[in-house]
Amino acid sequence: MKSKFDIIISGGGIPALLLALHAAVRNYTIALIEPFPPEDVLPPADGRTAAIMQEGMALINELPIWKEIQKHCGTLKTLCIIDRGEAKSFNASELGFEAYGYNVPLPLFRKTLWGLADKDKNITLLQDKINSHQSGPAHTEAALSSGHKLEAALLVAADGRKSTLRENAGIKTLNRDYHQSALTCLLKHSKPHNDTSTEFHRTGGPFTLVPLPNNHSSLVWMMPHDEPEKIKQARKPDIEKTIQILSENILGAIELVSGTSLWPIVTMHTNTLIAPRMVLLAETAHVVPPTGAQGLNISLADVIALLTCLDEAKETGSDIGAKAVLLKYERRRLPDIKTRVLGTQGLNELVKTKNSLLQNIRRAGLSFTHGMEPIRRLAMKTGLRTKNTAINSQ
Ligand SMILES: Cc1cc2nc3c(=O)[nH]c(=O)nc-3n(C[C@H](O)[C@H](O)[C@H](O)COP(=O)(O)OP(=O)(O)OC[C@H]3O[C@@H](n4cnc5c(N)ncnc54)[C@H](O)[C@@H]3O)c2cc1C
Repeated sequence: MKSKFDIIISGGGIPALLLALHAAVRNYTIALIEPFPPEDVLPPADGRTAAIMQEGMALINELPIWKEIQKHCGTLKTLCIIDRGEAKSFNASELGFEAYGYNVPLPLFRKTLWGLADKDKNITLLQDKINSHQSGPAHTEAALSSGHKLEAALLVAADGRKSTLRENAGIKTLNRDYHQSALTCLLKHSKPHNDTSTEFHRTGGPFTLVPLPNNHSSLVWMMPHDEPEKIKQARKPDIEKTIQILSENILGAIELVSGTSLWPIVTMHTNTLIAPRMVLLAETAHVVPPTGAQGLNISLADVIALLTCLDEAKETGSDIGAKAVLLKYERRRLPDIKTRVLGTQGLNELVKTKNSLLQNIRRAGLSFTHGMEPIRRLAMKTGLRTKNTAINSQ
């Protein structure tokens, strides 16, 4: 087996696979190490989807598999927030865009990216784990569980929120547990969603319906820790009835078409993104609650920043694992990550609050933002992090 690469990526989640595919186009050789390759899945086997906004779509639009994946994605044309019966809609068309982004089924997307990476001559996929690694002046060496040893100029830690590489590098995390869980599932409904993602602000956590094709939607329902188990154990017709009531019947009769999954709601971030010849990427560096659909989008911004650093290093002939290159990545990403983690944390507190004063402030803030056109546009652009590149949903 080949043992020398330009880049070793530990972890095979969606951001890691996108990084590998885009780095491979730039002629870097990559070893991607993942202990659990994706299984065969077809929607609606798993109810997990993610809304990917414009900035991240730049990494996906051009991939040869996008047209096929797009058939299974919902188009996000309108975002609607309903706070105690008062609905405020934000249309992408107001910014001159066809859509904010797409609601993408994650297991299908990951499996498809994996298949693409598997065919790429510059990518070696290994079902394995890194046990230890050591960085020196010229390269980093990783020892795998299988006994293999690999060498590369740069090691990317994308092995998820419980990253062993991060821990081995001694990088501490700052954590917060909200004692909330998100229940996710897929629904079929009798009324159309009109490409609208609707978020109900409820005490205990938001209840968000995100569109998928053919009168289907995904649900992300956040609630205090003790509630979801009761819901999971309820009979299917009772769950469907509860969802119909909580969604104020906007989608009509509800049919549950997937199992229900539970996700703990936490935030986590680190004070650095680098170690010798190593960078942290995606949930290895940051975890946020689903409120505001930021998680994967922050990770895709990491991928874009790292690719920019690789391009700059190539232009100047620099070593891609040199400290100066890694520092550029950290400077580009760390302030933004901290802002978005703190912003999502604050938003989550405000949405789930039981305090009636804060609830009133929240509603007044929403009305103010929605009512003032320049502020409304600014809020939409901030959420999108748009660079004025329209999405073509054809
Ligand atoms: C309910 C819910 C809804 C969400 N909705 C949205 C949304 O609408 N929009 C959005 O942007 N984001 C959303 N997110 C966030 C998004 O889904 C995640 O941020 C993203 O999928 C995480 O990707 P990742 O690659 O960092 O982590 P993971 O997907 O966890 O990938 C880490 C990989 O590392 C592997 N691994 C583990 N240990 C090792 C090891 N020792 N060595 C090598 N590999 C290892 C794992 O097997 C895994 O494949 C949501 C999250 C939740 C929970």
